[in-house]
Amino acid sequence: MSYLSIAAKLVLNVHDLNNEGSIGQSLDIRQIRMVDETGKPLEEMPAVSGRMMKHWHLEHMRRRALEVKMPLCDTCSSGQPERQATAEDELNAIQSCVICDTHGFLSTKAIKNAPRRSSCSSFSWMLPVLGTKPESKQVIHSRVTSGTAASIGTDETAQMIFHKSYASGIFAFVASIDLNRIGQTIDNRKISGDIKERRKLAIQSLLPVCLGAFGASQSHALPHAKCVGLLAALSTTEKPIPNLISPIYQKGFEESISLLESIKTGVNWWTYGDGLKNAKPNVQDVFDEIINKI
Ligand SMILES: [Zn+2]
Repeated sequence: MSYLSIAAKLVLNVHDLNNEGSIGQSLDIRQIRMVDETGKPLEEMPAVSGRMMKHWHLEHMRRRALEVKMPLCDTCSSGQPERQATAEDELNAIQSCVICDTHGFLSTKAIKNAPRRSSCSSFSWMLPVLGTKPESKQVIHSRVTSGTAASIGTDETAQMIFHKSYASGIFAFVASIDLNRIGQTIDNRKISGDIKERRKLAIQSLLPVCLGAFGASQSHALPHAKCVGLLAALSTTEKPIPNLISPIYQKGFEESISLLESIKTGVNWWTYGDGLKNAKPNVQDVFDEIINKI
């Protein structure tokens, strides 16, 4: 088994998935420009960057790896974003960290031929499905602080007013994992230990992303998410399969399936929802099928 490609479509209500950061006292959601299937420019719409999607996959990997005690380097176990392996060799670096293995790293060592590793996983931006119109609204929040905090300077209760943007709509993304590269260096040296467990970890950590378990403010703005369509394709040979056609397009799923059917051998695929062929009753079943095949 070598390569996994997925395409997912989700309804999200009230998410602040990709806030741009503080501008004055407001937090604005990222807006992008897109064109429709005829090339006609559309008005600005909220979207979530691929970097953010990758971050959430990594975060789910981290939590599970900590739970089941799989190896993590110090940087990855503490969830720091900059992965800079300190090992002098790619094999040592991936041996000691499942996230550095799957998500790649740079090296901080100022040495000749310092190891670096490109990511085995790729994520698109999560974009609004064409023909739909996401809603986005700025909401005023107030944070109440009471007591004698020095920042307030009085004994009174203080209220801090700030604005935050939330978006709702139907979104889609595509992602892939080069399973063959997991546990293996660029020059084909393999880690000692169970590579299959590492592949499983990377695959299973995609499931919560497909179900919408992400967001910058999960403690107080967990999105109301529902996966409405999923297509997963797994190559059964060394050959990678093409990235799936994004379900932001009206017939994205159907065209991907037709492409996969034309390949005939060396690929398995499964679906959920959206009136798709051979659809499984739930998203978990699609992931169970993938795991069974690797
Ligand atoms: Zn690491």
